[in-house]
Amino acid sequence: MSHEPSSHPDQLSPDTVVVAAGRPAREHDAAVNPPIVLSSTYVGTGEVVDGDRAYGRYSNPTWDPLEAALSELEGAALPGLVFSSGLAAVSAALSLVPVGGVLVMPRHSYQGALVMAQEQSGKGLFALRTVDIANNDDVIAALTGAGEKAADMLWLESPTNPMLEVADLRVLCRSAKAVGAIVVTDNTFSTPLVQKPLELGSDIVLHSVTKYLAGHSDVVLGALITSDETLRHTLLHHRSIHGGIAGPFEAWLALRGLRTLALRVERSQASAVELARRLDVHDGVEKVLFPGLDSDPGHERAKAQMQGFGSILCIEVAGGETAADALVGALRLWTPATSLGGVESLIERRRRHANEPASVPVNLLRLSVGIENVEDLWNDLAQALDAAAR
Ligand SMILES: *Cc1c(COP(=O)(O)O)cnc(C)c1O
Repeated sequence: MSHEPSSHPDQLSPDTVVVAAGRPAREHDAAVNPPIVLSSTYVGTGEVVDGDRAYGRYSNPTWDPLEAALSELEGAALPGLVFSSGLAAVSAALSLVPVGGVLVMPRHSYQGALVMAQEQSGKGLFALRTVDIANNDDVIAALTGAGEKAADMLWLESPTNPMLEVADLRVLCRSAKAVGAIVVTDNTFSTPLVQKPLELGSDIVLHSVTKYLAGHSDVVLGALITSDETLRHTLLHHRSIHGGIAGPFEAWLALRGLRTLALRVERSQASAVELARRLDVHDGVEKVLFPGLDSDPGHERAKAQMQGFGSILCIEVAGGETAADALVGALRLWTPATSLGGVESLIERRRRHANEPASVPVNLLRLSVGIENVEDLWNDLAQALDAAAR
C-alpha cells in the first residue's frame, strides 16, 4: 500500500504548488481531489510495523495530501505533521525542551504559546527567558546565558503578534545553532508564500493552519514541518501518544482552503499596504504598526527575508481605549472578532483579552485584512474613525 500522494514536476512556483500539491495519482476515473477517509481503524494482521496505518490516532489518509503540500511549500525534505490546533502543535514543539533546560521566547509571542511556556516553566519544567525579538543583542545574550546555562530552544515568531516586530531570522538562527539550541519558527502570520523559515536556518516551522492556510475561518488546525528525521520522529510520537490529532474533515477543509492561498495572500497584502498608508496620515490614528511602511523599524529587515509584508496591521487609536472601542463598534463591514487570516476582514482590540501582555497598548487594534474590495474596507474604516472622534 502506498501512502504517497502523487508527485508533479519539480520547481513549480509556490502559487502553482498550492493548487497542484497533494493530488491523488492520475489514473483513469480517479477523483481529482483526495477523499475524506472516516475510519478509526485499519485492517491488519501480524505484527504492527512502523508505517502501518493501524489506528486513527497514528494516521489517516486524509492527512497525507495536506502534510505533503505543507512540506513542499516550506521546502522541507519530509512530510509535515498536522495537529488538532496550532496550540497542539505548540505543545508538541515545546516538549522538545529538556527538563531543566532553557527556552528563549519573544515577549510578544502569540499569547497562547506564551501562556503555555509560562505555565510549564512555572511548574519547574524549564527556565523561560523572554526577549525583545527585534533586538539581536538582547536575544543573543539570552541564548548564550551570560554565564548561566545556554538555551536549548529558541522560539521565533516574525512579525510578532500583535506588535509586528520583525526578528532577524538569519542572524538569530545562526546564533542559536552556535549554542546548540533548536529553533522553532511560528510562520502563521507570513505563510510559506511570504517567508521560508527553513531556508533562513530554522529547524522547525509551526503554523496555526486555522489562519491563512485554511483561510475561511471555519476550521481549527495546526502543523509542524521539519527536514530533521529525529525531530520529526519525536514530534510524530508526541502526536500519537498525546492525541492532538486532526479530524479528517478539518484536514480536508484545510487543503481545500489552501488551493486559493496565493490569490488570497496577493490580494490581502496589497490591500494591507494601501490601508496602512492611508491610516498612517489619518488624524484619528496615533501610530500604525506595519513592516510594509518605509518608516516602520522592521521595514528593511522584512524586505530582506519576506516576499511582501503580510496582511496584518495594527493601529493605536487617538483617544485611547474608549475611542478604540467606539471605532470597533461603529464598523459595518469589518467584523469585530479574534483570529485572523480569513477571507473576511477582522478587527480586535487585543487588550480585551486578560492574558495579553501589559506592554501591548490599550488603544491598539489589530486588523486582519481580508479579500474584500479595498475601497469598501477603507470607507468603512474612515466612517468609523469619524464616529469614534465624535
Ligand atoms: C492563532 C495562532 C496560534 C494558535 O493556533 P490555534 O489554531 O488557534 O490553536 C499560534 N500562533 C499564532 C501566530 C497564531 O496566530
